Amino acid sequence: MRFEQSIWCMLGAGVLMASRPAASAELTCSSSATLEALVTCIRDQMPGRDSGIFVAPSSTQMTAWRSVVRAMMGGSCNLLLPSSLSSARIRLLRDAGNGRRYCVLMEVADRNSDGIVDLGLGTFIVDAAAERELSHSAPHATADLETEIQAISIFKATRSRSFLMAGAHRDASFDDSVCQSSYLASDVAHDVTNAFHATFQELAAFYGSRPWWAIEWHGMARDTCAEDVFASHGMDVAPARGDKIVELTRNLLARKPTWRVGVPGSSDCSLNATTNVQGRLLNGVPTSQVCGRAAASYSGRFLHIEQDPAFRDARDWIDAVMDTWR
Ligand SMILES: [Zn+2]
Repeated sequence: MRFEQSIWCMLGAGVLMASRPAASAELTCSSSATLEALVTCIRDQMPGRDSGIFVAPSSTQMTAWRSVVRAMMGGSCNLLLPSSLSSARIRLLRDAGNGRRYCVLMEVADRNSDGIVDLGLGTFIVDAAAERELSHSAPHATADLETEIQAISIFKATRSRSFLMAGAHRDASFDDSVCQSSYLASDVAHDVTNAFHATFQELAAFYGSRPWWAIEWHGMARDTCAEDVFASHGMDVAPARGDKIVELTRNLLARKPTWRVGVPGSSDCSLNATTNVQGRLLNGVPTSQVCGRAAASYSGRFLHIEQDPAFRDARDWIDAVMDTWR
C-alpha cells in the first residue's frame, strides 16, 4: 500500500499540486530573511479592502493572545500557543540583515488555500534585547500605504521593544463597528474586539507606571491637511513643553527643515486621533468605555503620526526617533 502510494505520488503529485493546491495551507512567510521582508510578505497575504474577511476574535482568543504578548514581553519565545490560537504561529526570526533575533507571533492558517489568511488576526514582534521601550505600530497597514514597512524599519533600526500590525485592511469587513459605527469592524483603531487592541491592553498592563511610549504610524492624503506631517497625543490640545511630540517634531525639523510639521494648537489639521481607541486607552479611559468616551487629558504615552505620501520613508525618521528617546 505504502509502496503504491509513493509510486502514485512520484507520478501524479506534481500535476495535482500544480492544478489544485492542498486543502489546507499555512502561510508562514518562512523564506523571508529579514523583518522588512517578513512584514512585506505578511502584508501581501492580509485580507484586503472589501474582501469581507475579518473574524473578530472571541474573548477566549483575546485572553490567549494577551497571555502570549505578556510572555513575549517577558523575553520568552519558546512557547506552546494556547489551542484557541491554532491559526497562529510563534517563532524566532534571525534577521539576515543585522543578525539579531526577534520573536514573531503571526497568523498563518489558510484553510481554503486562497493565499489569504483566514481571520485577519495580526502580527506582534518583540526584540528581547531592546534598548528603547517603544512600541511601533501600523493599525492601518495596506490602507495607509507603506506605514507597515516604515514602522518595522524604524522598530528595527532604533532597537525598540515591540512592533504591532493589524491583521486586515481597515475596510476589509462588511460589518460596521459596534464600537464606533462610522468605521468598520476591521478598523482596529476604532474597535476593541481585535488582537491589535488586546495587545495595547496587555502592553499597558505590562508596563504599568514604568515609562514607555506607543507610536502609531498613519498616512493621510496629501490634501487632507496643510502639513506634511501632523503629530498628536490623541487630543486636540497644544502639547506642553517637553512632550514627546514636541521633541520628536523638533528633532525631525532639525534634519528636514523644509518639511511642514504640525502639532495641535498650531494648525487647522483635525487629525488629532481623539476617537482612536488605543489613544483613549493610554490617555486613561478604561477599555470598557473607550468606544464612546473621549479622554479628559493625555498621558503623553501615545503618539499618533499622520503623514503625507512622500513622508513615510523610515530613513527620514530614524535619527529623529533615536534623538527623542536616547
Ligand atoms: Zn490611519
